[in-house]
Amino acid sequence: TNQARVASLQDNINRTTRTIQYPRKPDGKPVYTSEFFAENVFHLPQIAKALPKPAYASFLKQMRGRQALDKGTADAVAHAVRIWAMDRGATHFTHWFQPQTGTTAEKHDAFLSLKSSFSPNGEEVTAIDAFSGTQLLQAEPDASSFPSGGMRTTFEARGYTVWDTTSPMFIQEGPHGTSVLYIPSVFISYNGDALDEKTVLLRSTSQVGKAACELLNLIDPVPVGAQPRVSHVFTTLGTEQEYFLVDRSLYSLRPDLKHTGRTLIGNLPPKHQQMDDHYFGRMPSKVMATMSEAELELFRLGVPVKTRHNEVAPQQFELAPIFEEASLAVDHNLLTMDVLSKVAHKNKLKVLFHEKPFKGVNGSGKHCNWSMSTDRGENLLDPTVKPETNYRFLLVLVSILHAVQQHGGLLRTSIASSSNEHRLGACEAPPMIVSVFLGEHLTEVLNSIEESRPIKNFSVPEIQSIKLGGTVLDVKVASLPNISRDLTDRNRTSPFAFTGNKFEFRAVGSKQSPAFPVTVLNAAVASSLQDVTAALREQMGSKPYPSDADKVAVIKKFISSTKAVRFEGDGYSEAWIHEAERRGLPNIKTSPEAFEQLLNPVHSNMLTKLGIFTATELQSRHMILQERYAKDILVEATTLSTMLNSQILPAAFEYRGVLAQNVHLLKDIEGEESGPELVALQALTPVVKDLQTAIANLDDVVHKMHHVGDDVVAEAKFACAHVLPAMNEARAVADKLEVLTADKYYPIPHYSELLWF
Ligand code: ADP
Ligand code: MG
Repeated sequence: TNQARVASLQDNINRTTRTIQYPRKPDGKPVYTSEFFAENVFHLPQIAKALPKPAYASFLKQMRGRQALDKGTADAVAHAVRIWAMDRGATHFTHWFQPQTGTTAEKHDAFLSLKSSFSPNGEEVTAIDAFSGTQLLQAEPDASSFPSGGMRTTFEARGYTVWDTTSPMFIQEGPHGTSVLYIPSVFISYNGDALDEKTVLLRSTSQVGKAACELLNLIDPVPVGAQPRVSHVFTTLGTEQEYFLVDRSLYSLRPDLKHTGRTLIGNLPPKHQQMDDHYFGRMPSKVMATMSEAELELFRLGVPVKTRHNEVAPQQFELAPIFEEASLAVDHNLLTMDVLSKVAHKNKLKVLFHEKPFKGVNGSGKHCNWSMSTDRGENLLDPTVKPETNYRFLLVLVSILHAVQQHGGLLRTSIASSSNEHRLGACEAPPMIVSVFLGEHLTEVLNSIEESRPIKNFSVPEIQSIKLGGTVLDVKVASLPNISRDLTDRNRTSPFAFTGNKFEFRAVGSKQSPAFPVTVLNAAVASSLQDVTAALREQMGSKPYPSDADKVAVIKKFISSTKAVRFEGDGYSEAWIHEAERRGLPNIKTSPEAFEQLLNPVHSNMLTKLGIFTATELQSRHMILQERYAKDILVEATTLSTMLNSQILPAAFEYRGVLAQNVHLLKDIEGEESGPELVALQALTPVVKDLQTAIANLDDVVHKMHHVGDDVVAEAKFACAHVLPAMNEARAVADKLEVLTADKYYPIPHYSELLWF
């Protein structure tokens, strides 16, 4: 019956919103955010303070060069960070890493140690607090239970976590006022193979940085003998994180949400998102309480969370930080997801990061805003007022177009998962064909270069005036004219869009770690920058530097060769699918096919040549992805079957029984077997039978999947081709039953209850 549901709903109504105290000074005045920002982070200045000057200098050198720290330096850092952390209540430390599970992993160790001393009176044991440089640098968690895609057999299951010195250590508060020191780490095998997401991300960042430096220094001449102008380029990332929040007690009544992160059955209520009244609407107080508490903790952790707002679907929200260096931004995104979950739990809510928790309303993405920056803080995708830097801008831009042209299939791989599959191409989500949106103006710029004609409206005034109810606001516009107009010229249907001074990879799923998509993007761009640099060298011949004409020639060449990936139209339309096919763009519909792109020589050669993946690492990742996909679907199918058998059918039986009894009773009174109860019963009965058939069919398909064999690829493909359709059929029938069964008997929360507070 619905008793548990009603109790949950009542509980939800009666609950008061949790309040937290924002930090205050002793005199009661608020502490400004900037004053406590990153107070739980062990920063470079703190390391500087703790180390003798030469030791700090060598630490910096080792950090930048990504070399292993020497023992002396490591010991000094370890000592300093232990005191810092213990003064803040830390009792434990942990290497915090990113195995290929999409989440983070940690195993805690106490600082507590025992020290034995021996004297004529015997052994004396004393408790001490200790943390050595060796413990800081490296730990050896039991790696055998993390996915390795067959790269290690269990007997050689050694895996090491090694401190990533480029990401600062931090403490996170636990219960009882204690905390834990987190050491951001990479996770590698005994042979140095990457077992995680971070190692490959760091490799890709360094490759794209090198390739960009080479191009920039080629087009930016310096006097003979002088240092090259650019010595370091890094990628920047800002992740817009979408998520749903639901009531935790209602959530706990839905086995599908609990076990799979999405609803496997359920009908949309009459009013959902069609009024567009949720987007940017006022946030419910429970949500505000959760967001603010999460933000407070994130500020302390040095995560620069900036924006928060309601999203399109009911109960859907978004949070975005200020962009940072990519690998730090990835760490911070994962931390944000952790903190949000934790704080929501305290507020009796549940965060859903799944890409499609509810059928029929918008899904959630994680738009990855990506660009490249020099160490002088110049954004390489910023069109500027200086024509010479616009050559740079255009060369970088065509490099990215070329990257998508060459490796669009691989970008598709990087966003493939069983959960994102439900989102891509549905309800305002980007399609599976990877194309690039540049906006009207930039398109015109490229077209004019290609056609060797002047740019239309090239000479717009630097100050563009916007009239706003009589007042005039001055808006700065860069010299690539009207480029700021693209900010409003949004194309939500594009998976990869230029948005003013960065690209936005919109197809990335809300649940996945941004690490792999960014790794792939970095890799593709690194390779592409090398191609563009090579083309420039060829064009300039024996000259020491390319002339402007050389640059234009190369830009033109790549504009022409990458035309197929540029698409400004409606990415949802049927027409685009045909058009994309005509252009020869891959349209990879299913995840198992997308994963196989990893082994496609076009992509795998690029990745191995750049040293971002080894061939073994690629094979292992391919296996892990296929296996996870197959397992995800298997869990969903068995969850669905169990729910239907043990909850939905019994509810329908109960209601049918009552109807049948009533029909019987009323016949005694009224003398004939007609009446509305009979009509209801007759409507219900065939659907109940259909559901039984659908469950049997689903069980049968699941059974067959178990017998596909040992081949994970075949299993994943079977799950996609047979299990998913069987689940959809069962769902369709169950959704009919939800309407036909009296609410009183329906055991699990409806969408109408889950999607409104
Ligand atoms: P929009 O609303 O246009 O999507 P926002 O200005 O809100 O853009 O930015 C969205 C995200 O993009 C934020 O996380 C922001 O920090 C990030 N971002 C802005 N500039 C860059 C950049 N150069 N590189 C990477 N991310 C960026
Ligand atoms: Mg955006």
